[in-house]
Amino acid sequence: MHCPFCSAVDTKVIDSRLVAEGNSVRRRRECVTCAERFTTYETAELVMPRIIKAGGIREPFNEDKMTAGLMKALEKRPVSIESVEEAVSKIKASLRATGEREVESRAVGELVMNQLRDLDEVAFVRFASVYRSFKDLEEFRQEIDRLSNRDDQSE
Ligand SMILES: [Zn+2]
Repeated sequence: MHCPFCSAVDTKVIDSRLVAEGNSVRRRRECVTCAERFTTYETAELVMPRIIKAGGIREPFNEDKMTAGLMKALEKRPVSIESVEEAVSKIKASLRATGEREVESRAVGELVMNQLRDLDEVAFVRFASVYRSFKDLEEFRQEIDRLSNRDDQSE
């Protein structure tokens, strides 16, 4: 970090503390050359990729919208809001982990379905039937079969 006053390369950190509920670090620095002091803030860059919708329309990732979609599928199901929030966090982490700047909405839908499948199977089927709009009943039946197979394995 160059000194903003004299552009010297060497500055030293004289104080460092967490701010904004631990989401960023405030550092007090002093220039080794001119002794001026200044403050820097360090925040992890958590950029969500943009979402490519059908027809190529790009939209910013909308967490509220995704949570609402999950909640709708989970309506009247025995799943806590904490579990939903955890699922949303996992989906966001997966999206960031792609390292992509843009992700197809279909891929987001798959991530949502993976989470719902673990949370509640009824909600999963509700979401899948709407989101994926299965091409035909046969495809839908296969998905249900996949679910039953999963159950067999876990028992
Ligand atoms: Zn300086």
